[in-house]
Amino acid sequence: MTARVQPPAQSDHTASYYAASSLPQPVLPALQGELRADVCVVGGGFSGLNTAIELAQRGLSVVLLEAHKIGWGASGRNGGQLIRGVGHGVDQFSNVIGTDGVRQLKLMGLEAVEIVRQRVEQFQIPCDLTWGYCDLANKPRDLEGFAEDAAELRELGYRHETRLLQADEMHSVVGSNRYVGGLIDMGSGHLHPLNLALGEAAAAQQLGVQLFEQSAVTRIDYGPEVKVHTAQGTVRAKTLVLGCNAYLNHLNPELSGKVLPAGSYIIATEPLSEAQAHALLPQNMAVCDQRVALDYYRLSADRRLLFGGACHYSGRDPADIGAYMRPKMLEVFPQLVGVKIDYQWGGMIGIGANRLPQIGRLADQPNVYYAQAYSGHGVNATHLAGKLLAEAISGQQGGGFDLFANVPHMTFPGGKHLRSPLLALGMLWHRMKELI
Ligand SMILES: Cc1cc2nc3c(=O)[nH]c(=O)nc-3n(C[C@H](O)[C@H](O)[C@H](O)COP(=O)(O)OP(=O)(O)OC[C@H]3O[C@@H](n4cnc5c(N)ncnc54)[C@H](O)[C@@H]3O)c2cc1C
Repeated sequence: MTARVQPPAQSDHTASYYAASSLPQPVLPALQGELRADVCVVGGGFSGLNTAIELAQRGLSVVLLEAHKIGWGASGRNGGQLIRGVGHGVDQFSNVIGTDGVRQLKLMGLEAVEIVRQRVEQFQIPCDLTWGYCDLANKPRDLEGFAEDAAELRELGYRHETRLLQADEMHSVVGSNRYVGGLIDMGSGHLHPLNLALGEAAAAQQLGVQLFEQSAVTRIDYGPEVKVHTAQGTVRAKTLVLGCNAYLNHLNPELSGKVLPAGSYIIATEPLSEAQAHALLPQNMAVCDQRVALDYYRLSADRRLLFGGACHYSGRDPADIGAYMRPKMLEVFPQLVGVKIDYQWGGMIGIGANRLPQIGRLADQPNVYYAQAYSGHGVNATHLAGKLLAEAISGQQGGGFDLFANVPHMTFPGGKHLRSPLLALGMLWHRMKELI
């Protein structure tokens, strides 16, 4: 089977605070000529990089192809919130993978954060990793959910401190009157995602992975040996991994049909004084509220407020992201009215219908593996996906790959043009439920 594709659309990655504050970015070559490898990985985000690292650690030769720059996609632009868990409401899958399977998924959601911790420690990646996170309750029923989450974490043997907060304790975490409670988790936290990606790219190189930038895959010849084409080169490999998430476009229509790309946006203020920053987030935690189009925010290492939110399905970014996001920030922190916005940017989240990351292999092409659809919660889950894919590819049995691969994922009906309006309708329904 052969698929002809266009390279992914450009969007402005350089506008982000992360691009402006990143480690020196190496200029990696574009692929030229023909290479052979055990595995060809497509996508230079966390999914691709971590799969490559884990494969190289198991002794396989790996070529990684990135259409733009390492971390150009969601991995280099996200909120930097490293939060425990995979998926949402994973108990719904017990009819497919059993209650034991569900329990394993929950444990893997905790392990996913530990993989990031180990990566940062092992490769000494300077990505401002800071521990401490708080779920914010918008309504009393959110707080009831947090109490259940805390009980479940205890039952799973979670080794990090968690603590429920009532409304009158919220100012110890966030200087806003909007919330009726919270759940602190000291095993989750925040980091500089682009620097994590760059550090992981350097680690992959040290392990012998050949990395290429500006090397969009334009065509794939599938078969027992895959042949992967870029404008100026080809890679022949026994195994292919697709880690392109919301930027996959037409490279593989079967997989992109299961992911809805949705725009999310972030603003970064000018650096705040110590007193200002302390008044906003006294314990320097990352925080998220519970609404469908949630607010997520945290402080950067140089004390900017990085405030993210929204969820756009139209494929069109707001004309002025700063003007669009600023009122959302001021609703939470009216005291920031005179503060300047230094950076504004957006990126694409890949949403799946059941919100469980899609980790598997193609039914008709068993040497083609993929990981995608983290539904806005991928900083940890991508790292787990890399491990699971590498275990499966290298023939290690008993890992969690099969659990993920056995969960079916719906293809959104109507192709690319109908997918977004359908999701918009679905979101409207969820937002209406929030108001009830
Ligand atoms: C604004 C925003 C905020 C977010 N905040 C958080 C957060 O705080 N916490 C959290 O856990 N998650 C967050 N997420 C989600 C998280 O960033 C993603 O789930 C995760 O980064 C996905 O990583 P990935 O490697 O799968 O995809 P990406 O990082 O998007 O990488 C895919 C790569 O594939 C490349 N590619 C595509 N097509 C081709 C091709 N044909 N040839 C070669 N390369 C190709 C792209 O150029 C891209 O670099 C956020 C996402 C966004 C957009």
